[in-house]
Parts: sequence; structure tokens; C-alpha cells
Amino acid sequence: MVASILPIWFFAVYLGLGAWRHGRLDLREDLTFAVQAQLNSLDQEIAGEETALRLLAAAPSLQRGDFAAFQRQAAALAALLPEHTVTLLAANGRPLLDSRGSAFAPGAAAPPYFTPSAVAADLSPLYHDPADGTPSVALTLPVRREGRLLYVLALSCPSRLFLPYIHEPGSPASWIGAIIDQSGTVLARVRQPDLYVGHPAAAQVLRALRGPARQGVAEFVNLEGETILAAYRRSARSGWSMVVAVRQVTLESDLRHWLIMTALGGLSLLLFTALAVLLLWRAFAATERARRRQEILLRHASDGVHILDAVGTVLDASDSFAQMLGYQRHEVIGMTVGQWDAGFTPQELAAVVAEHLTDQDGRSFETRHRRKDGSVLDVEVTSHALELDGQPILFCASRDISERKTAERAMREANAELEQFAYIASHDLREPLRSISTYITLIERNYAQAFDAEGQTFLGIVRDGARRMNRMVLDLLEFTQVGRSGTQCAPLPLQEALDAALANLDQTLRETGAAFLQDRPLPVVMGNRTELTSLLQNLIGNALKYRDAARTPQVRLTLRDEPEGWHLAVADNGIGIEPEYFEQIFVIFQRLHNRELYPGTGIGLAICRRIVNRHGGRIWVESTPGQGSIFHFTLPKGDLPADGDHAG
Ligand code: ADP
Repeated sequence: MVASILPIWFFAVYLGLGAWRHGRLDLREDLTFAVQAQLNSLDQEIAGEETALRLLAAAPSLQRGDFAAFQRQAAALAALLPEHTVTLLAANGRPLLDSRGSAFAPGAAAPPYFTPSAVAADLSPLYHDPADGTPSVALTLPVRREGRLLYVLALSCPSRLFLPYIHEPGSPASWIGAIIDQSGTVLARVRQPDLYVGHPAAAQVLRALRGPARQGVAEFVNLEGETILAAYRRSARSGWSMVVAVRQVTLESDLRHWLIMTALGGLSLLLFTALAVLLLWRAFAATERARRRQEILLRHASDGVHILDAVGTVLDASDSFAQMLGYQRHEVIGMTVGQWDAGFTPQELAAVVAEHLTDQDGRSFETRHRRKDGSVLDVEVTSHALELDGQPILFCASRDISERKTAERAMREANAELEQFAYIASHDLREPLRSISTYITLIERNYAQAFDAEGQTFLGIVRDGARRMNRMVLDLLEFTQVGRSGTQCAPLPLQEALDAALANLDQTLRETGAAFLQDRPLPVVMGNRTELTSLLQNLIGNALKYRDAARTPQVRLTLRDEPEGWHLAVADNGIGIEPEYFEQIFVIFQRLHNRELYPGTGIGLAICRRIVNRHGGRIWVESTPGQGSIFHFTLPKGDLPADGDHAG
């Protein structure tokens, strides 16, 4: 990566250096242009001042010798040129008056700029003002009458007033400008004026200025010993020269700046590229890792994972799904769900796919898949509607439940056989029992006197046993009958079943003096009349049977409407049940008490559980020994016909 960025960097440095060299050429041109423009402005300024001075020299007041009026006019001109002074000198250089109104003694000395030989307007060399030593210059104009020199008019000012002409606003701060007078003295300078102004310019510069070319660009060494690149030009009009220069150190620091900036730019480019490559690489690595993890998930999922599009075509599938159907993975991709599903018709399948696509919570259902070899297996499919690249998809997982289904079928068959056996056994057992009962009755009636007291007791035991046996067989028969009676579930007003149960228990209710309470009328449910009557009769019967002798029995039937279904509870104030028997009591023939105290066969609650289970509900008990028990059961609400025909 570094290797790939290096050429870019070198190229940037090359461009930078090229630009700098080019910039240096441009610089010579710029300096030349600046020097020309600035000298031009300076010439114009001087020409303007000369014109103003000539106008003043032609003033009638001077011709008349009216010095007071002339002084006012000189002051007016000076007011237009700040820091300038207009002075009128006599032909011998003696000052007569000035624009400031100075009083000059009759013997006052001639100012430094005065030259007796003045013949035309002339610029003086630099002089130091006698009053305050300020480096100044003056423009002098001889005033003649009929060839005779009468006066010399002078316009003087500090030389620093020319600074604006040697460094125009907008030119680079590193440029140094200077004006050199006709004698080679520095008049004004932008940088270090104290060091230069009033001193002769560097010899090299002076040589160039006095050369025939009058202008040019060259490298010089200045008074400070620094090498400078300077453009110079001497004005033919005023004799003054203008120099605009750049120091070599500035140029070198510019080059250094260029190089540093280019290096920094290159370095930033390098870092930026490195960072971008790193980020890209990390993003790519993360995506690649995620893709590999997904592939592992998909390949090794034990369930047959497959992704379907909106019309049921396989977009992708796991190896296990392909194996489940006996295909290769690439064969499964592109197949449609109808090609392997054996549980639905094509129309049903289309409806199932469309319906599941709208359900993001996911669904599970059972169906059958057909393998490549034609054999069929039972599966449970879980599907989730998702979105992939803006398209709806179904994420499905098929689980092979063939073994479970086979086991369930085997269990159902075994149960059916067992029930058949119990039914036949209990049915057939009644026949010999009936014979025993009949013959015992005959023996008691015809041969009672033949038995002594002991024989009578034995006979009683046999009769009792036969009766109990008969009861048990009948109960067993009822147990096996649950769910067998041809009567199917139908809408049944549960109140009718309760009334029938209470009618059957009427005698016991009266004998025990029990109170039966019902909090609200019972609903219509989907159920079997005989079985639900038996359920209620068993529970209420037990509540009465297992009453506490010390209290009047109270049985309360409550009803609650719950999301799960109807929740009913039969509560009593009887003897109660120890918690460890809460499960056991629902098992067939399981009893907690001896027959003498509480007669029974131990089948009642087993029948109750069977009935409730068959109706799709649950049954359980809550109890506090010595206080009472509550038997809870639920019945699903089911789909009742809308016409209200609830004949049970
Ligand atoms: P059975 O009543 O014929 O013994 P069940 O199957 O109806 O048989 O009851 C099983 C056992 O559960 C009973 O022997 C009794 O000990 C206990 N049992 C049932 N209902 C109640 C109840 N309401 N209060 C106390 N114990 C009860």
C-alpha cells in the first residue's frame, strides 16, 4: 500500500517544485511590473506638484509684490498637500516667506535644497530639515522676469510622504520598496528606513541604476549584506529611481514553506489513504466474517432451513434441508414449495405462503414433505416473514417429526387397544358377577337356616364383595366409556348439565343438609351432555362425601371468564387434602381413605380428568387440610354456531 502511494507523493513534490520555479519567474515579472507602476505614479505626483507650483509662480500677487496676498495663496496650496511647505526665496536663496507664516529674519540663511544655479524646475537631493532634522526633499522652481531671476519658489515635504508610492496596498508584505534620489541617496524605504534613508544605496544597486539600461531585475547584496532579488527603474523625468525587492531568505523560506506544505499534503494523503484502506479492509473483513458465520449457520442447522420468495421459490437452503428431501443443495435452490409439499393442495399452498408473508411473529404448522424418491415424511414447519433487499421473503425451518408422529400413532393404537380390552373385560365381567349375586340371593333366601352365625357372616362378606366388585366394574366401564360414546361435542347450556347433576345428588344434598351456592348462571359450551353432567356430579358428590362432620357442608360453584376459556371451580368446606396427594388423587383407583369411613372406588376423579382433557381443558386441585378443597377446571370457549341453536 505504501509502495502504491509513494509515486503519488513524489509526483506531488515534483508538482510543488515546478510550481515554485514557475512562481519565481512570475515573481521577476511581478516585481518589474510593480516598479514600473509605482514609478509612474510617483512621476505623475511630481508632475502634478510642479504644475501647482508653476500656477502659484504666475500669481499676480507675486508680480505685484503683494507678499501678504501671495502668502495666503501659498498657504491655500499647502493646505491641499498635507505636510508640505511652500517657501518663497529671494534669488540669493534668502527665505522671504512660507505657507506656514514663518517670520524670517532679513539675514536668514538659504535652505539646504537651494542651488544658486537653478534654471528649471528641479528636485533637490535629500536634505535634513534644519528645524527638526527630518529627511526631506523639495521641488524648486525659478521665477524670472524678463530673463532675470527674481525668486525661487520651493515645495518641500518629508521624504517619508513618498512611502505610499513604494508599497502599494495589495502587494505582498515581503516586498521591500525604496526610492533613491539622483545622487544615489535612499529617500524612502519600506523596511528599516532608519538604516537606509539618508545613506547612499548599495554600490551594486547604484551601478545598475547608473547603467545605460535604466531598468532591470537582478540579484544584489544590500547594505545589511543580504542577497535580494530586485527590480529597479530610474525615472528620466525626475532622475529618481524606484527599487522593489524580495530578500533571498524570504524566497528560501517560501521554498521551505512549499516543501513543508507539499510534504504535509503528501503525508496527509498517505495517512488518509492508509486509513481509508484500513477501514475498507475492516468493513470487508467484518462482512466476510458475517457471511461465513451465516453460511455455517445455514449449512449446519439441524432443521431444514430454507428461504422462499413471495411466490414460494427457494432462494437458498441449508444442506440439512436438501438432505431431508434427498436432493443436493444446488438442486433445491430454485424449486418451488409445491414440488415437495404433500400436505396441502397447490391452491392451499399459495394461500399459506401469502398469509405467512404478512405475519412477522412467525408461525408453526404441521405438514408433510415428499422426498425425491417419492417417500413422505411428517414435518413441523416454522416460518418467519422478513424483508431482504426490500423484497418480502419467508424464512422457514422444517423439522422432521416422523418419529414423533409414529410414536404418537403407536401410542394411540395401544391406548385404543387397552381401552377396548378394559371395556370388554368390564363388560364381560358383569355376567359372572351377576350370576354370583343371583346365587347368593338364592342361598340367603332358601338355605339361610342351614348356616350358623359364622356361616352367615361369611355369606355377608361374599355378598358385599360381589356388590363392590359390581360397583367397580360399572365405574371402570364408565371410565372407558368417556370419549367413546358416539355422542360428539355440541353446544350445551352448562346450566342444564349442572341441574341434572344436582337432581341426581338431590337425596344426598337433603340428607347432609348441605348448602349449594352458585355465583352466576353458567354459559353455553361445546361439550358432551352426559360427560359434563358426570364431571359436575363427581366433583359436587365428592364435596359432599368428604365433608367435615363438625360443619354443615357448603358447596360453591364459581365461574370466571378468562382469556384461556371458562374457568369453573367447585369449592367445599370439607376435610381437605394434603398437598402431596394433589396429583395422585386423579390417578385411577387411588384413594386416600378406607372404605368404611368413605366408601368409593377411586375412579371418580380419574373420570373427571379424562372428561376435562377430552374437552380440551385442565383440572387441578387446591386445598388446605381441615378447611376445604377447591377443584378447578377449564373449558375452552370453542366456536359456537351463530344461530343460537344450543340443543345438547
Ligand atoms: P373416590 O371418591 O371413589 O374415592 P375419587 O377419584 O373421586 O374416588 O377421589 C379420589 C380421592 O380423592 C378420594 O379417595 C379422596 O381421598 C380424595 N378426594 C376427592 N375429592 C375430595 C374432596 N372434595 N375433599 C377431600 N378429599 C377428596
